[in-house]
Amino acid sequence: MTATQAVPVGAVPAPRRGRTSGSRWRALLESRWRDRLAELTDLSVAYHDATAPAPGTGAHESQRLLSRQAVVARYALAETDKALHRLATGEFGRCEDCAADIPQARLLVEPEARYCERCA
Ligand SMILES: [Zn+2]
Repeated sequence: MTATQAVPVGAVPAPRRGRTSGSRWRALLESRWRDRLAELTDLSVAYHDATAPAPGTGAHESQRLLSRQAVVARYALAETDKALHRLATGEFGRCEDCAADIPQARLLVEPEARYCERCA
């Protein structure tokens, strides 16, 4: 019997450093990722439901709208995915253009931000 798990599962240690805390951003991004995936799933279900009515009942229009929304949702999900990747590679919070730190206030509003305010 070995005590390999000093920290119980689910216990998130409080961030000690003042700078970008990886675990806090990860939790935030993963939560957003789940939300965006759920939104995309809902849109897919709605899209398929919209195919059910008989032709000529306006289904095409709602399908077009849902399809457009799904494209936006898929893009948003991909952006969150990329932010999680940057977190894993240590690039998170750094402007992709000038390599400056992206202000935390900006990241809190949009953790997927890839550019600082100057380069955005
Ligand atoms: Zn920049």
